[in-house]
Amino acid sequence: MESDVDIPCPVCKSDGTLKLLSMSSEIPYFGEHTQITLLCEKCGMRQTDFIPAEERGALAFTLSIDKPEHLQARIVRGSSGTVRIPELDLEVAPGNQSTGYISNVEGVLNRFIDIIRMMMRQMRVDVDEGIEDAPEQLKKLFQLEMALTALADGKLFGDLSLEILDPKGHSIIGHDDAVKRELSIEEAENLDSGPNPLIMSSSDDS
Ligand SMILES: [Zn+2]
Repeated sequence: MESDVDIPCPVCKSDGTLKLLSMSSEIPYFGEHTQITLLCEKCGMRQTDFIPAEERGALAFTLSIDKPEHLQARIVRGSSGTVRIPELDLEVAPGNQSTGYISNVEGVLNRFIDIIRMMMRQMRVDVDEGIEDAPEQLKKLFQLEMALTALADGKLFGDLSLEILDPKGHSIIGHDDAVKRELSIEEAENLDSGPNPLIMSSSDDS
């Protein structure tokens, strides 16, 4: 289902360029939900979220990545989901323009690797410019990249885990071995809850 949205684009501020796409379906472990995408035809801004049919509160999922099939475990990350690899102290918080996605553990690891490689490119520039602690930082990034690449290649099983924390309960790790728990109020309050209000308010009248 497609509908026009009567508010200016939050990114390019154009009027009349926003569209809202919504689609209901069922995902194993996640259940009945509506996938909502807000997109701007002018600047290409795109925000996706997954709204479960039933409110399920603030949830965290943790999967210790122990065997090849765990790399294929389905991930639904709503726009309010924070993704962590706690052993490496890595975290991607939603931020202002966060968009949700459906992927698997391997896909999420590759997203982390892409971000780290981007940071490495920047850090090499800093090294060239003689910034004092840049070589040390670059070395750390390189070690992270090695660890994540090895894990994605199926070589580091048992050492690392993937965690998704979502104050709105719009994210899951879909696998029997994933441990699900409720977030405490403090934990939920300390998490970035992403850009949701815009999508939520415009979906009310559709
Ligand atoms: Zn726009």
